[in-house]
Amino acid sequence: MLNNLNKDGKPKKIVIVGGGTAGWIAANLLACKWKNTDICLVESKEIGIIGVGEGSTPHLKLFFDAIEVTDSEWMPHCNATYKTGITFDKWSSIEGFESYFHPFAAQTDDIFTVPHFYKNIQARMQGYNVNAHPDPYFLETYLSQNNLGPLPDECFPFGVAYGYHFDSALLGKFLAENAQKKRVKRSYGTVEDVLLNKEGNISCIKLIDGSQLDADFFIDCTGFNSLLMKKALKVNYKSFQDNLFNNAAVVIPSEISKTLPVETKSTALSNGWAWKIPLRDRFGNGYVYSDDHIDADHAETELRQHLGLLESDIEARHLHMKVGRVEKHWHKNCLAVGLSQGFIEPLEATAIALSFNTIAQFMQYFQEGKGTNKFEDEFNTDINARFDGIRDYIVCHYKVNQRSDTEYWQDNAVNNNISENLNKILTLWKNSQDFAGDMLKYKLTGSYQPKSWACLLAGNGVFPKINTDQAIDYSFHQQEVDGLYDFIRRCGLNFKKHNDLLKL
Ligand SMILES: Cc1cc2nc3c(=O)[nH]c(=O)nc-3n(C[C@H](O)[C@H](O)[C@H](O)COP(=O)(O)OP(=O)(O)OC[C@H]3O[C@@H](n4cnc5c(N)ncnc54)[C@H](O)[C@@H]3O)c2cc1C
Repeated sequence: MLNNLNKDGKPKKIVIVGGGTAGWIAANLLACKWKNTDICLVESKEIGIIGVGEGSTPHLKLFFDAIEVTDSEWMPHCNATYKTGITFDKWSSIEGFESYFHPFAAQTDDIFTVPHFYKNIQARMQGYNVNAHPDPYFLETYLSQNNLGPLPDECFPFGVAYGYHFDSALLGKFLAENAQKKRVKRSYGTVEDVLLNKEGNISCIKLIDGSQLDADFFIDCTGFNSLLMKKALKVNYKSFQDNLFNNAAVVIPSEISKTLPVETKSTALSNGWAWKIPLRDRFGNGYVYSDDHIDADHAETELRQHLGLLESDIEARHLHMKVGRVEKHWHKNCLAVGLSQGFIEPLEATAIALSFNTIAQFMQYFQEGKGTNKFEDEFNTDINARFDGIRDYIVCHYKVNQRSDTEYWQDNAVNNNISENLNKILTLWKNSQDFAGDMLKYKLTGSYQPKSWACLLAGNGVFPKINTDQAIDYSFHQQEVDGLYDFIRRCGLNFKKHNDLLKL
């Protein structure tokens, strides 16, 4: 039990260390929900923020809903655009599967279209020549292909989840101003020491200028430094480097197109992949690669070539990343949020979602435990499972890649350092008569729905060869696919062009 609790059972004072996206997400949520707690955020001007992380999942919408900020209040300030999912380009060299889209969920999927996708996957697994590529089966894929924003007219009766693209520095600025309006105190300083009391709890942090900040509870948002959780409290770190080879990135902006895409594009390059994220004033681009396979100079040249910027003098930024997670995200009187708790590489843009889940779930467990560490173990088990579930989904992209042009892709395909869960999923994919049903039955889905797993595996063309002897009534099959397409097209009539939705 913390000594200093308010009457409402929440800590009297919380200090958040770090003013990147994670720090400000934590500050806003705490300020909105724990109204009697003093919240202070300290950040270092000298160290600054990582300044990448410009794509989200639908969790960012949940976060803004939780702090009661609407799209029109924040998006224009952050040059933000809408996102319906991610196109994966050139991850497979199998004819017909060179590109596929991983959509966010729409209610029309499960009710109308995805059952047909699953049926055709089964038929394709048995050698029938049917269309089992994911793209024709999802409404959000259609929205992306037609540059339609994901907010339907009011009369459209089905829910459509969506994410965003945004300028990370501007998002930080917006969240910082919003939190300060809700009484969060902001201060600047670089922490040089973290002092523990005899129970091993953090008693205060010491800044370089000699001042000290004490609190009842501390939130570590110090990025890859993980100053409180890893360095001071010595919580163990589990690296994912055996599963995920990428450990560096190079980042270059480029000119935005007139028509704003509503998707992130992920293009496989020689030794990793490049993201392309549309903001209102620029494309954010980056090449995530393994520096065991390509050095920084060659990676930069390859990215410039990919973007048509070989002759351009726009400066590139080089970054290192650590992939893995701490074993405990809540320990003693400290919670780690953001890069300080871990990172799984940005392929599915999941880091901000994990930060939001971590702080929201912590608040719930802390309240249920009435200010004690009673649910610390359950909380850590839950957050670890979220991290590991996302890791498995991301590892699967590399494991099932269908390229063989470089050692990097070959090394990824033969890498057997994959979790038991992922092994079981790949076995089910090959053998099950009901992939989605069995995923749920054996509790294998992890952090992604069966339809996301099916998009990934079918999208890369992970199928046996077509058996030309298998007879099928093609006219009936074609009629069914045409009917679905027409249904999705008519659903699409309820959506505006992305540019019009953003009033650009
Ligand atoms: C290449 C790359 C691409 C990414 N793409 C995505 C994406 O598309 N989507 C997504 O969700 N996420 C993405 N991420 C992750 C995303 O960038 C982070 O999750 C997000 O920016 C939050 O970072 P943070 O706040 O944890 O850390 P940071 O932004 O690094 O902030 C750390 C803060 O701690 C402060 N600090 C550090 N040490 C001290 C000290 N000693 N004293 C005082 N203050 C200190 C710093 O000054 C800073 O304010 C990406 C990451 C990388 C590396």
